[in-house]
This record gives sequence, C-alpha cells and structure tokens, in this order.
Amino acid sequence: MASAPHNTVILMAAKPPEDLLFNPGGRLVIRVDVWWSRCAHGADSLPYKTIGAESQQRILGNMSDFDVIVIGLGAMGSATAQHLAQRGRRVLGLEQFARGHSLGSSHGESRIIREIYFEHPLYVPIVQRAYELWSDLEREAGERLLTITGGLMIGPRDGALVAGVLRSAATHDIAHEILSAAEVSRRFPGFSLREDAMAVVDKRAGILDADGCVRVQLGVAEAHGAELHFEERVMRWEAGGESVLVETNRGRYSARQLVLAAGPWMSAQLGGSLLVERQVLAWFEPRAHAEWYDPSSCPVYLWEYPDGYLGYGFPRLSTGVKAGVFHTGDVVDPDAMQRSVDPREIERVRDALRQILPGVAAGDLRDAKVCPFTNTPDSHFIIDWHPQFANVLVSSPCSGHGFKFASAIGELQADLLTEGTSRFDLSLFRMNRFNL
Ligand SMILES: Cc1cc2nc3c(=O)[nH]c(=O)nc-3n(C[C@H](O)[C@H](O)[C@H](O)COP(=O)(O)OP(=O)(O)OC[C@H]3O[C@@H](n4cnc5c(N)ncnc54)[C@H](O)[C@@H]3O)c2cc1C
Repeated sequence: MASAPHNTVILMAAKPPEDLLFNPGGRLVIRVDVWWSRCAHGADSLPYKTIGAESQQRILGNMSDFDVIVIGLGAMGSATAQHLAQRGRRVLGLEQFARGHSLGSSHGESRIIREIYFEHPLYVPIVQRAYELWSDLEREAGERLLTITGGLMIGPRDGALVAGVLRSAATHDIAHEILSAAEVSRRFPGFSLREDAMAVVDKRAGILDADGCVRVQLGVAEAHGAELHFEERVMRWEAGGESVLVETNRGRYSARQLVLAAGPWMSAQLGGSLLVERQVLAWFEPRAHAEWYDPSSCPVYLWEYPDGYLGYGFPRLSTGVKAGVFHTGDVVDPDAMQRSVDPREIERVRDALRQILPGVAAGDLRDAKVCPFTNTPDSHFIIDWHPQFANVLVSSPCSGHGFKFASAIGELQADLLTEGTSRFDLSLFRMNRFNL
C-alpha cells in the first residue's frame, strides 16, 4: 500500500463574513476557523471505498438486506431511523456504545430550544417544524419531553446575538418583547445585567429532555420495525451505484442508502477533519432564593459577553442550575477526551455567571461534566449528500446547537432519502462550502 500524502490546509479568516453570526465577535470565528483543518488522504487510507462491480452485482442480485443503514444513534441518527421506519423503510441502526450512553453529544437532562434563531433566519422554519414534531413525539410516548420556560437573548444592542434575533424575528414576523437591563431584573430577580445590556424575549424557548428524546426516538423506530444494534462499531463502508456495504466488528450488512450520523466521530467516516471541541458544563446550587431559578419563573438564556464570547444557561432542574460558555474548550480526540474537569475550568464558568446571575455564581458546585462539540468553520450544520456517493447522506448538525432540530432533521433526512428533496432551504448546510 502506498503511503498516504498528508496535506493539511488551515483556513483562517481575518474577520467573520457578514453571514456568520453564530459566534459573536471576530475572536471566536477566527478561532474556530483555525481549528478547521483537512487532511488530504491517499485513497488507500480513506475510511470508505467505491464498491467494485462484483460486490454490486452480488448485493443487487440478492437484494439489499436493508433500505437504509444509519451509522450512529445519537439525536440525529435515532430521529432519522424513527422517520424512515415510520414510512415502512427497512432500517438498520448501528451504534458503537450501549443504549443510553453518555459518551457522545446527545445525553443529559437538558438542551435549549429557541425559536427566534439568531444564527440565521433560515433555521427558523426548521425549528418551527421541530416544535411540532417534538409535540407529536410527546403524544406518541405519553410523556413530557419539552418544558417551555421562555428565553432571554441578552447582549449589547448592536451585538451579533441581539441583532441576529431581531433579524430572524423581522424575517419571519415573530412577535417578541425587548427588555432593558432594569426590566429584566424586575421580572426575573435572579438576573443582574450591565446597564448597557438588553434582552429579547423568545417566548417559545424552553428545555428539551435530551435523554428522553433520544430514548423515545429509538423506541418509536423499533416499534415500527427498525433493527437497532448497540455496542457494534462500524469499521469501514463501501458505496457505489445503488448499494452500500458496511462492515462492523460483528458483521457485514448491505443496503441501498447510508446515513453518516457519527457526531464527534464523523471525521473517521469522512476522511476529513471536523474538529471536536471539549465543552465544560457546571451545575450550581444557589444558597439563597432558590425559587428565583425555578423553571416556572426563570427562563433559559443566551448571553453575549462584552468580549464576544457566548454564555448559556438553564433554570434550576433536579441537578441544579446548569451553565456553560460556548467555544472555550480544547480541540480533542473524542476517544481520548479528558472527562474530568479542572477547578480552573469551573472558575471560568463562575466568572461568566458573576456578570449575569451573581446568586448562582456564588452557589455551591453540584456537578461538572464535559461533552464534545463537533464544529464546522462557520458553525452551521452539514446536511448533504456525500461528494462522491449519491446514496450516502452526511448528517453533522452540531457545532453546539443541533439538538433542538433533531426531530425535524430526522424528518427532512427521511425526505431526502425517500423522495430526494426537502421542503426546507438547506443551502446553508452544503458540504461544498468547505474544502472537504
Ligand atoms: C455540552 C453540550 C451542550 C449542548 N447544548 C445544546 C443546546 O442547549 N441546544 C441544542 O440544540 N444543542 C445543544 N448541543 C448540541 C447537540 O447536543 C448536538 O448537536 C447533538 O446532540 C448532536 O447529535 P448527533 O446525533 O449528531 O451526535 P451524537 O449524539 O454524538 O451521536 C453520534 C453517535 O454516533 C455513534 N458512532 C460514532 N462512530 C460510530 C461508529 N463507527 N460505529 C457506530 N456508532 C458510531 C456515537 O457513539 C454516537 O452515539 C449541545 C452539545 C453539547 C456537547
């Protein structure tokens, strides 16, 4: 085997393009761009191959075992398997870890959902559909997955967060309220903002029960006949024409189509590098006025710091008040990520909280965890056909904000796989915007 040449291309942006609103301030965008690198591999070292004529003949001759194989059963893979199975497709889902594991990006008790999406107006119709589908899923499962708390999008008037929310509200004609710093404190006494900050209220914002959503999606998929294998790792795959072959540590399977929903392990499936970032989360117990932080009286929030970073947090759930700061972690290998949290990392979260929720910042630490983000350079998702294989769908909606969309992404990916089109504008999510 010839040794693979490795050319690493680093993309750097001196300042954020106008449309890239996700990371407010130039600092973050530059940082994420620097993280983006791509190895140009030799064909022999790629994790996938084109199926040879003989294999294709064999698969087509025997009929594929499955219509679709889904690699990865986190939020995106489980939603896609669910929607395909509900349409009567023969689905095989392959997950390397145990059911309910906490090693990917989709576990835990809470993910924020918000409607007035500051990142880009194009996301709004997709999240609106996601709300409908989460509600369908709640009905089907007979359990609550979404708690509406309302949301505060806090920052300077001309900052990327507030400006982005107002742009999406205007584009989609969504009613919203604007509060001064003093009005925020009057209405939500736990919050204490700088005088020059303001907040836009997203009244449909709330909290998704992440573990519950994935569990229910898997259950509905199975109830509709999907075959789901846990603790089975995909080692390689081949594609071509109308067939795919997938080899795991336990067997070989064939299908007509393949979905790559491997989250932080996506690079191993693509042969390029989406960079994985270690994200620290901390849970605090306020020492006074615990009622100020109850979900019935405290919204979820995003907050753009004066230095361009973006913090986010939740009301008090059974595990305490959870908070984090976007895009301040190291680039890691998801298989070797340090899972313990350093006290200095907790201090960083406390420092951020001191400027917005001082009572939480002064509270007792109840827990701290890490979780991997899978970042694209512009923080928008990838949902697109593989550049070489028309029957392989690449599904990488993370960059720290994908969960809320999972129900709608499962449906729209099922549309792409079964009908070849989606009702949504997916132009922002194309792979060819990067040098993949
Ligand atoms: C700390 C944190 C906070 C977040 N907060 C929010 C939020 O508030 N709101 C929001 O909307 N989003 C949020 N996100 C983002 C959201 O959680 C992710 O976008 C989403 O969970 C990604 O789902 P996924 O299915 O793509 O990835 P994952 O859940 O990681 O699933 C990928 C799966 O693929 C499996 N896999 C990989 N390789 C293989 C293989 N070779 N064989 C078999 N299986 C394989 C993995 O084991 C894994 O289970 C947050 C993310 C993190 C980490």
